[in-house]
Amino acid sequence: MGAGMAKSIAICAVGDELLAGAHPDLNSPFLARALLEMGHEVRQVIVVGDDEALIAESVERLARSAQLVFVTGGLGPTLDDVTRHGVARAVGSELVTSPEALAQIEAWYARSRREMPSSNLRQALVPKGAKVLFNPTGTAPGFEVACETSRVLVLPGPPAELQAIWSEVVEPLLIASAPVECLRLVRSFHLQGLSESVFADQCGDWMGRDENPLLGVTVARGVLTVRCVARGQNEDQVQALLDGRADQLRERFDQWIFSQDTSDPAEVLVRLLEQRGETISCAESCTGGLLSAALTGVPGASAVFSVAHTVYSAKAKQEVLGVSEQLLRDHGAVSEQVAGAMALGAAERTGANLALSISGIAGPEGGTPERPVGLVTFGVCYRGRVWTEKRNWAPLAGRAQIRVWATSHALVRGVRALEGRLDFDQSA
Ligand code: ATP
Repeated sequence: MGAGMAKSIAICAVGDELLAGAHPDLNSPFLARALLEMGHEVRQVIVVGDDEALIAESVERLARSAQLVFVTGGLGPTLDDVTRHGVARAVGSELVTSPEALAQIEAWYARSRREMPSSNLRQALVPKGAKVLFNPTGTAPGFEVACETSRVLVLPGPPAELQAIWSEVVEPLLIASAPVECLRLVRSFHLQGLSESVFADQCGDWMGRDENPLLGVTVARGVLTVRCVARGQNEDQVQALLDGRADQLRERFDQWIFSQDTSDPAEVLVRLLEQRGETISCAESCTGGLLSAALTGVPGASAVFSVAHTVYSAKAKQEVLGVSEQLLRDHGAVSEQVAGAMALGAAERTGANLALSISGIAGPEGGTPERPVGLVTFGVCYRGRVWTEKRNWAPLAGRAQIRVWATSHALVRGVRALEGRLDFDQSA
């Protein structure tokens, strides 16, 4: 394989439940996307049941045409978990107890303060000569084994475990074992407020598959994550490529980028508040507590957050937050005026420096021509000054999606307020 040339890759997802329609295979798409961002294209994905002979035959066949074969699932402690047996058969090795794998499983039980059932001993079995891959969150370690000239990486099935082992162990391993002349470095940006397609349009050629850096985009909870992967022969060259594209991205997408570290806007907001010694509260209508849940999902949030209000009815908005009846009558509960009064009321009642509010129509019912489903109004009260905004999301996005987007949107407005990037004088 020449320098910088993409490896050919295949994935085999194992599990009867994946074939029964009970669980969609989430691991192959995750791995395919992550590998693509590293410049490797997956050529084949297969799903097989928990059948030792079939797993062995599949791994052998995939290893004949692919240089890297990923196998996920079926590493559990029960007798129907036969992936390790199938892989051992494919590579012609016997299974042996790995002291390293056993130590990892025992350490997991010690951390969980539980006694290890003897069935878990099975999870320490790996084909002779395999390299054990540490599982940061679960009991089943992964392993890597050679099959002819290919590398076979066998990873745990639960998606959260697979994703943790990928980012903490497998990705660094692949980067470290790449030929030095194709060093890869990654830099990420997290954006809120624009869609994947608008991003792609505005990027133009930067998204080309032959570009260096290669750009990859994923979307979750209304947040767009852009990963730039630069390839080159030495660190200075790769850093220069990344710096160049990062400057261009910041210039073009500055208004949407809220972080380079985390895709969670609540985390960015909590850390900013902590640094300043400031506090936050919120007043939510259509999101019904999602903002509070996002904030309290961040470890250490208690330093900046103590109380918030969910005010679903017009009456509650008046009684709990002091929104005037007149304002509600004149403008309606979903209006910038009412959102602003909710934020002000929350700040005054809780004494928080920053208060965020959300009032909207998440649907599917309740829309009118003037106030359609998808209309969400936001208020920010920061150090006594109020800023408001309205957004119109497509009604077809659906209630759940609109509530999630509104939550991320409000959190990023909070970040912008602290950064001094909201124009409080221009607000309605
Ligand atoms: P563990 O020992 O932690 O159970 P494992 O490697 O044995 O790990 P499996 O027993 O195959 O994993 O699967 C455990 C659960 O993980 C399954 O019930 C399923 O919900 C989920 N899972 C496994 N593979 C996939 C996949 N490819 N996509 C989505 N979910 C999966």
